[in-house]
Order: sequence, then C-alpha cells, then structure tokens
Amino acid sequence: MKHEYQTLIVLAGLTGLAAQFGCGREDLRTEIVKWQDGKAAAVSLTYDDNSANQFRVAVPLMRRFDFPATFHVITGEIEGSRYQGAFIGRPIQDVVRETARIATGPGNFFERASAIGRLGFTGGFDYHLRAGELFEDGKINEAYRLIDEAFAKVRAGLLRREPVSPAGPGDHRLNWDDLKALATQGFEFSSHTITHPRLAVLDDANLDYELEKSREDILDHLGPKHTFTIECPFGTEDERVVRHALALYPASRNRLPEPFLEELDRSSDKDPAISSKEYVQWQRGALTATPMSQMKGWVDTVAGRDNIWLVLVFHGVDGIGWEPKTGAELEEYFGYIKSLESRIWVATFQDVTKYMRERMQGRVTTVRKGKAIEVDLRHDLSAEIYDLPLTLRTDVPSGWPSVGVRQGDRTANVKSARDNRGPYVTYQATPNAGPVTLTKRPN
Ligand SMILES: [Zn+2]
Repeated sequence: MKHEYQTLIVLAGLTGLAAQFGCGREDLRTEIVKWQDGKAAAVSLTYDDNSANQFRVAVPLMRRFDFPATFHVITGEIEGSRYQGAFIGRPIQDVVRETARIATGPGNFFERASAIGRLGFTGGFDYHLRAGELFEDGKINEAYRLIDEAFAKVRAGLLRREPVSPAGPGDHRLNWDDLKALATQGFEFSSHTITHPRLAVLDDANLDYELEKSREDILDHLGPKHTFTIECPFGTEDERVVRHALALYPASRNRLPEPFLEELDRSSDKDPAISSKEYVQWQRGALTATPMSQMKGWVDTVAGRDNIWLVLVFHGVDGIGWEPKTGAELEEYFGYIKSLESRIWVATFQDVTKYMRERMQGRVTTVRKGKAIEVDLRHDLSAEIYDLPLTLRTDVPSGWPSVGVRQGDRTANVKSARDNRGPYVTYQATPNAGPVTLTKRPN
C-alpha cells in the first residue's frame, strides 16, 4: 500500500506540472530540421574560373535577388597574389636532360607532367593538360607518349619561349580588393588552385603546392572563412587529389566524405529522387546550350522533394569564359528560383555543408525549467569553424500562441504553429553557444 501511495504523490506532482504548462504534453521534444528555416531543399549557385562577367553581370543580379554564391577562384590570375605557377622539385633542367635517356613511365610520369607546364614554353601547359586528360580517361600509355613527345620538342628547341607578361591592357584582371568587398557581402570564395592544372598528374610536391599556396593567398587576403571550400579543376574525383585536398580544406565540391550524403556529379544521369540517403548533392552544369526549361526543371525537382541539395555550376557569363550563359538567362533563372523561395534555401556551398554536418552530429536536449522550456544544442565539430545557426523545432504546450526565444543576448518572438503532432515553434539557435530559453508570451 505504501508503494501505491508514493506513486499517487508522483502522479499528482506531474499533473500539477502539466496544469502549470496548460496541457498534458510531457514529451516535449526538439528536432533540428532538415534544412534551414524548414525549407524543402537547398540550392547553391557556384561559379568557376573567375571570368570577368561573373562579377560585372552575375553579381549585381544576385544582389538584386539577395542570393549568396560561391566563387571558385584561380588565385594565380588575381592581381596581387603572392604565388604563381612553379615547379617544385630538383632543378628542372635535370628533369629535361633525363628525358633523353629514359622513356616516360610510372616512375617519372608525375614529375614530368608537373615540369612540362613550368618550362616557360608556349604550349607546355597545354601538353600538361592533355596528358592529364588522357591519364584521367585511363589512357595511361598515350599520356606517357604525349609527355615523351613534348620533351623531345623541348630538347630540340622546337617550342617557343612564352612572352613574359601575359596580362595586357585588354585583360580584366580581378584584384583582391574587389573580392574582399564581395566577401563581406555574403559571397563565399573558394580555392580553384593557383593555375588550374590537372592535379591528378602532378606529383605530391606540386599537387600540394597548388593546394596549399592558393589557400595561403586566400587566407592572407580574405581571411579564414574563405578557406573552407576547394574545387579541384576539371571536377576531378581522383582519389589521391581528393585526399590531399580534404587534408587542407574542410570541403571540396569534387567529393565530400560524408556517409549520409549521396553525390551525383555533373555527368551523372541518375535520378536524384531515388536515393535512400539522408541527403543528396545533385550537381548540374548550366552550359551555353542548356535550355531554360531544363534548368527550371532541376529546381522543380528539388522543390518537390525534401532531401536534395542542388549545386549549380556556372562558368562564363555574357560571352566571357567557358560555356557562357547570358545575363538575361541568369536573370530569368534567378527570378524563377526566387519565386520558389518559400521551399528553397539558397545558400553558399560552405553554409549548406556546415548545416548538414552540424545537424547530423548535433545533439539536442529539451527540459522544463520552471515556466520555461530550455533547449541545449551541441556538437563536437570544431567550434571555430562550425558556428552556423541551425533551425530547431520545439514542441510547446497548447496555449502558447506566441513564444519568446532567447539565447545569450539574442532574442526573438515567434508565433507557434500546429500540425498533427501538436503545437510547435521553429527558430534559429547557434550550437555550443549556451542554452536557448523558450517562454510563453502574452498574445
Ligand atoms: Zn575550372
């Protein structure tokens, strides 16, 4: 009997608490919603190769629609960069001399493919690029023969010296001040290496030089926020390259290591809606001939699902750069994305990556503290890098139509909503930044 009596007291206590909250909900829960602000999908606008009209034409359009974007920049082409293309290794003439005696093969190919573009001859870098393309296409012996051909020409003096200053008055070179102004307006900058080589055929020393020194120039000029992402040129998925890149940068557009993410690259024709993974990154390249209807269809596809991140890849704009789209096309397309903004979160590559990682590693607890609800959001990722606020959804008692949300000295008032699970509020909270307190507010 005594035992039953104690149980009754506990029950009475709980009932009192429920009465205090104005409902019987004892299981108040918080979840980190799938995408920021409860949207159904994410879209990232990304631009490669820093061609001039990305900044003169596309940036003003994106500003008008209030869209952020990610620019993968070739740092050696930006005025004021400390680092240019270079050969890292033994004296380069030793490499050239050796080609007269030893045919190109597995033991020397990467060194030679690194050196050929750095001898200062017109066409030398093109040999590097062509050898890289053959290698990545699996045509290894053809790549070796091409390198032999190139060095034979070098030894016979058949390649002309490159002019010393490639940047003439007709060039529209960007400078770091231009980029710094955009970096403070929500645009993300990302490394696209120093010289846009075929990284898969550089030896480790030259590969790391391209990765490290482009990072250093970005860090010096734009700060650590812009050293999060890299895109290794030509969309390479070479394992060694991706491994080296991810050792220096938290994220690459080429590959991300997450087991919860399915990645469909630009050449994939798989249906992004079929994946069973928590998230799908679906990359689509908008080329000159890509029809507007197809581009809009990509957006419709992601807006109609709940787990797809559409990563759009643009190159040239209005006649400048590879496969240019016109400014008019971009304007129409951005307007279409804007019209679906209630379902689509437009964010930088960095922010979407951070959101997914923070959410997947996030832990959230919900407890009652007197008349308030206290929510705690934490993760074990590097606190310096991963401080993107996440969107939380917390159940609230009925009779809380308006809720005050406070974290540190940040406060907001939000209206509660209701679905089949009951009343709830959604709001943003920063991980590892102290508890979030929810309180009932007068209507
Ligand atoms: Zn590129």
